[in-house]
Amino acid sequence: MLEELKQKVFEANLLLPRNNLVVLTWGNVSEIDRESNLVVIKPSGVSYEKLRPEMMVVVNEKGEVVEGNLKPSVDTPTHLELYRQFKDIGGVAHTHSTWATIWAQAGRSIPCLGGTHADHFADEIPCTRALTKKEAESNMELNTGKVIVEAFKNLDYHEIPAVLEAFHGPFTWGKDSLEAVQNSIVLEEVAKMSYFTLELNPHAVMPEEIIKVRYLRKHGAQAYYGQSITL
Ligand SMILES: [Zn+2]
Repeated sequence: MLEELKQKVFEANLLLPRNNLVVLTWGNVSEIDRESNLVVIKPSGVSYEKLRPEMMVVVNEKGEVVEGNLKPSVDTPTHLELYRQFKDIGGVAHTHSTWATIWAQAGRSIPCLGGTHADHFADEIPCTRALTKKEAESNMELNTGKVIVEAFKNLDYHEIPAVLEAFHGPFTWGKDSLEAVQNSIVLEEVAKMSYFTLELNPHAVMPEEIIKVRYLRKHGAQAYYGQSITL
């Protein structure tokens, strides 16, 4: 079942340690097959060295295992909530990458301070509110998804495919699992750069109009960056 997707999600998961975004068993990547509404996700607590494509777990929209002998990632309910609410995303990635997690632990959104950020994300990367005691004690992973969706009430999740969960870490998404991981890689670079930028100049502010021009150069109907043909 979904063998090609399992291979793809397996490879997407391996990109996390390869890009220094996770250590030990931390992090997880998933992708949804929108036709069957089934999600392929990393098994819980398996090291990346031992991970194999056939170990990927297939779950349905309720989080029930449809195929696989291993338990799915504990963060599966967060992924499922994002697939339910962000209706056209195809992949989700979660890491505890150091710099993004530092911002999440500080409870701070990452402001857009330069072209690296604006080329990729249209605005600051929001940090969610903290979970309440009740939300943490019951269905914490589902409630994590809900506070992420809440943070995007007035934001476009296409333009900002990343979030920081307060006191936890980053989640990113994209059209598929590979794009979700790519967004995690960019987010980590941006988190690091923004930290040091504010160290050097706590008053650094990028003008709104430049953010907009840089973002639209690569995204949207009038984008002109890159090639118009597939290489
Ligand atoms: Zn986590």
